[in-house]
Amino acid sequence: MRNDSYTHEKLSPHLWRIIDSTGVCCYLVAGTEKACLLDTTNGLGNIKEYVQCLTDRPVFVVLTHAHLDHMGSSGLFDEVYLNLEDLPVYRFKTSKGHRLLDAERRLKLQVSDISELPPIYDGAFQPLFDGQCFELGGITIQMISVKGHTPGMMCALLKEEAIAIFGDACGVAVMLMDEFSSNVSEYRESLLHLKEYETQYDVVYRNHGTFTSPKELLDNVIECCDLVLAGKDDRVPIQAHGHDLFLCHKLKPGTYERMDGKEGNLLYLAEKVK
Ligand SMILES: [Zn+2]
Repeated sequence: MRNDSYTHEKLSPHLWRIIDSTGVCCYLVAGTEKACLLDTTNGLGNIKEYVQCLTDRPVFVVLTHAHLDHMGSSGLFDEVYLNLEDLPVYRFKTSKGHRLLDAERRLKLQVSDISELPPIYDGAFQPLFDGQCFELGGITIQMISVKGHTPGMMCALLKEEAIAIFGDACGVAVMLMDEFSSNVSEYRESLLHLKEYETQYDVVYRNHGTFTSPKELLDNVIECCDLVLAGKDDRVPIQAHGHDLFLCHKLKPGTYERMDGKEGNLLYLAEKVK
């Protein structure tokens, strides 16, 4: 296992953002009793030791979904939660062939065996479900199911601090990119479920890019779904992760910014709209 370094920033009295060497982040929430690590990044280093420098509370892991850039090195921990709807994604992503290809293409690593890669949890997952709360002592995390990017995709709400962690569920360029992702119509329903919590948070965090979004992001992505469902989006053809996708809104050349300056965009498969 490579021992690349992490960096971190403290975002609130109970919350830290930990960023890995590829620019993906995860979140540590620590209360007076326990600490919860929301995702583990690509895990190119010992994230367990890094986390132990930030908190002396016992740490358990909650995986927001089963993509490799969110669950690397989760195998260093004993207690790991995952929405079991994501088990088919987990099995596919952790298969030997897929992991070696991902290491070579995305992480630019030269490895011949998956044992050289960061260990991914392979025990029985603790189940994660919509509405589930974790009381950490002075801070409570409530999980919200937002099926779309993956079938078991979960967001986290830090109740006492009015912070929502959208993860990959809703963002600058949401990817409904493969056979596991929802169609646009189902995804829109998930976003409406997330919107039920809108009065309970003031801040939105994500795991990629700028990591922070304005609250309007959610409405903007719901609007993306409406445009796609009405056949009125820009429908820009784009290749990503080996799939031919369409992008809802055109981008300013050389950027990820929409022409109208709003934040929130959607990538989808032509055959998975309704
Ligand atoms: Zn993802």
